[in-house]
Amino acid sequence: MSTPHPHTLSLNTATVRQQWNLRQTIEGCARHDIRGISPWRDQVAELGLQQAAQLIRQHDLSVTGYCRGGMFPAADARARQQKLEDNYRAVDEALELNARCLVLVVGGLVPGSRDLNGARQQVHDGLSALLEYARPRGMPLAIEPLHPMYAADRACVDSLKQANDLCDALGDQGLGIAVDVYHTWWDADFAQEVQRAGAHRLLAFHICDWLSPTQDLLEDRGMMGDGVIDIRGLRQLVEQQGYQGFHEVEIFSRHNWWQRDPDEVLRVCKARHQEYC
Ligand code: ZN
Repeated sequence: MSTPHPHTLSLNTATVRQQWNLRQTIEGCARHDIRGISPWRDQVAELGLQQAAQLIRQHDLSVTGYCRGGMFPAADARARQQKLEDNYRAVDEALELNARCLVLVVGGLVPGSRDLNGARQQVHDGLSALLEYARPRGMPLAIEPLHPMYAADRACVDSLKQANDLCDALGDQGLGIAVDVYHTWWDADFAQEVQRAGAHRLLAFHICDWLSPTQDLLEDRGMMGDGVIDIRGLRQLVEQQGYQGFHEVEIFSRHNWWQRDPDEVLRVCKARHQEYC
């Protein structure tokens, strides 16, 4: 499989969020000829939604995803409703930013609870309600299955199979999957589930690497090429299904990449994208 076109690289702003605010990150992408960006809600709020949308348009960047909605499970109906309304606002913001999808980290157990199946049911119900809002407005929702190590606190949807099952249950229109190699590389059914998803469900493709050993459950993601994931092989499987979107680099790295000169980080991202993705 050939090297990717350089313009298929997108930057998730978390990759340099310790060094740069959103304005600096947008300008950094433009300077390095990175054509896609995936911003986070708190950074958009800090800069101002209109201002963020305008800057992104001005630099002709594609918003490959908006981070993030979800976190559906909650202890009571009132709290669930509040979360749902916050998700409605996330959909509105994603529309303003012309994002390709709203990325959903669905949430884990209700604090103090051991009811994993109950949490999964709440995710199903929350998604169903959010779809009623997002579908008529034309904002696709991308379920991002996370690695099972986050099942308690971040996402009780832990595999591509579960994400596909939710799409089956809730209908394909405006609903799909964000495939992140960090969360799914270990899955023996990766090829099968990506094929099951097909092009219409494959809404985003996130890249970084799995370091072995990993020092921190959340903030020790590796740069492409520094770990054990066959990123190019996984990309091939996704693109064989017809996925033609961006490859979004998303690295949380407290002790390494967040400590470096962000211009260097972007240069390395571009080089490693060509070499390993
Ligand atoms: Zn991701």
